[in-house]
Amino acid sequence: MTDPMPISLVAHTAFCPRRAWLEAVGEQVDNIAIERGVADHTRVDARSDDRVRRRRSVDVVHEDLRLVGRCDVVDVAADGVRVVEFKAAPIRRRAEVTMAQEVQLALQGLSLESMGHTVVGHSIYFTTQRKMVDVEITDTVRQRARDLVELTRATVESPAAPLPLVDDPRCNRCSHASVCLPDEHRQPPLVRRLAVSDPDGQVLHLTTAGSRASLRKSRVEVVRDDQTLASLPIERVQGLVVHGNVDLSSALIRELLWRRVAIIWASGLGRTVGYARSAGAPNGLPRAHQHVQSAHGRIDIAREMVAPKIANQATQLRRSSRDDVTAAVRRLRTLATAARAAGDVRLLLGMEGEAASIYFAHLPSMLADGCRLAPSWHGRTGRGATDPLNVAFNFTYGLLAADLIRAVIATGLDAHAGFVHSTSRNKPALALDLMEQFRPVVADSVVLGAINNGELKASMFVDVLGSHRLRDDGRRALTRAYERRVHQEFRHPTYRYQVSWRRAMEVQARMVLGVMDGTQDSYAGIRVR
Ligand code: SF4
Repeated sequence: MTDPMPISLVAHTAFCPRRAWLEAVGEQVDNIAIERGVADHTRVDARSDDRVRRRRSVDVVHEDLRLVGRCDVVDVAADGVRVVEFKAAPIRRRAEVTMAQEVQLALQGLSLESMGHTVVGHSIYFTTQRKMVDVEITDTVRQRARDLVELTRATVESPAAPLPLVDDPRCNRCSHASVCLPDEHRQPPLVRRLAVSDPDGQVLHLTTAGSRASLRKSRVEVVRDDQTLASLPIERVQGLVVHGNVDLSSALIRELLWRRVAIIWASGLGRTVGYARSAGAPNGLPRAHQHVQSAHGRIDIAREMVAPKIANQATQLRRSSRDDVTAAVRRLRTLATAARAAGDVRLLLGMEGEAASIYFAHLPSMLADGCRLAPSWHGRTGRGATDPLNVAFNFTYGLLAADLIRAVIATGLDAHAGFVHSTSRNKPALALDLMEQFRPVVADSVVLGAINNGELKASMFVDVLGSHRLRDDGRRALTRAYERRVHQEFRHPTYRYQVSWRRAMEVQARMVLGVMDGTQDSYAGIRVR
């Protein structure tokens, strides 16, 4: 790192070197909420003293240590300056000064001194408790801060990520636990699970043709013909999927990208036509490793993309079929076992193909007795499907693909460099790889459930010269059913904790990231029993 280093990175190192590394590679989490909260308090909570001039958001620099930073507040008096940091302390309840905070204050003070100021004191104002605490910065603290500058520089310049802490209480209160996944790196069944802050949020689907979404007073508003169809706070939006002919304002696009929220555009049939990601995507080096490993091939990862899919097809068929499907399920299980030992991707694709033909041959047996759509089924067709069932599957696979693209983008990996799907085909190959395990138990389950419970009806398809299309109400019905499904929780087979299907998509993408950055030995797909 030849550029000056932010003081905040050194404070992260004081808490945990891996957190500094995560920040340095761009994994910034929860910053918007914390920054806003602190900024609000900074405006209202001031030490009233007419003899002190208060300066807010003061940029500081230390040329020798090659540091830059920003002090929340610097109080300027006749005898010198006092550094005041504002801390929201959302998790720690008591107004206690941590070692990381001491280090941050020490480096801010050293920087101000190097700029020619006399520093007469350091304080922290705890906004949650509305309490000012003066902090003594001793020579020992200053030396520790200097040592941590060196350690931080070595950490962030290292090509390898520091390993997560093991069973360490710091992880319980770490803002980066949702992206670090400290326990999941070891892949044992977990005995504890860290609580992560609302990682699921809301994925907003815009499905009404002719509508327009824009940003208004920090809310996303969707309007058609002067009628407001939806309005929600922008901080609740974790992803945006635009289906068909819906307009987005450029202010909304810019704000979402600034917040690192991915936007995915899909055709009315559910096919992904493009996506936008923030220029500040994290994990640049693991992304480069991903390209190299994708080009060389990683059969161990490819196996774990395909074998769980076949195992999950067996489970879905066993759970949903009205017929005796014992032989088919047995064959699928044999194929799933064989896929775990496949020597190359070509063999793997052959097994996947055989499994798909067995599974989809039994599809009518998974529909309710007398289902009006069943007679139209003549086998699985992807692109160019004309029958209503395949049209419904294609649309729902599109919703799933959008979710996986979003999950991959959140990790900073490239959705287009895969291990089963060929990178050369110009498709979101890694997202499609990760999608395989979720197809039977998320997407197929949504379509079959929506048809069997009457949510998706034959009348929701329009027949144009024998070719069927989903009407708006059909797309909405499937989207509703899909959103319900991805919010349902299940027991993660590797980690043995309850997790929503949507969160599991990011957990799986982060497992691939762990293999790419060297902190995880292997990737394991989700198999549902
Ligand atoms: S979750 Fe634990 S290991 Fe990961 S960055 Fe935070 S403190 Fe470090």
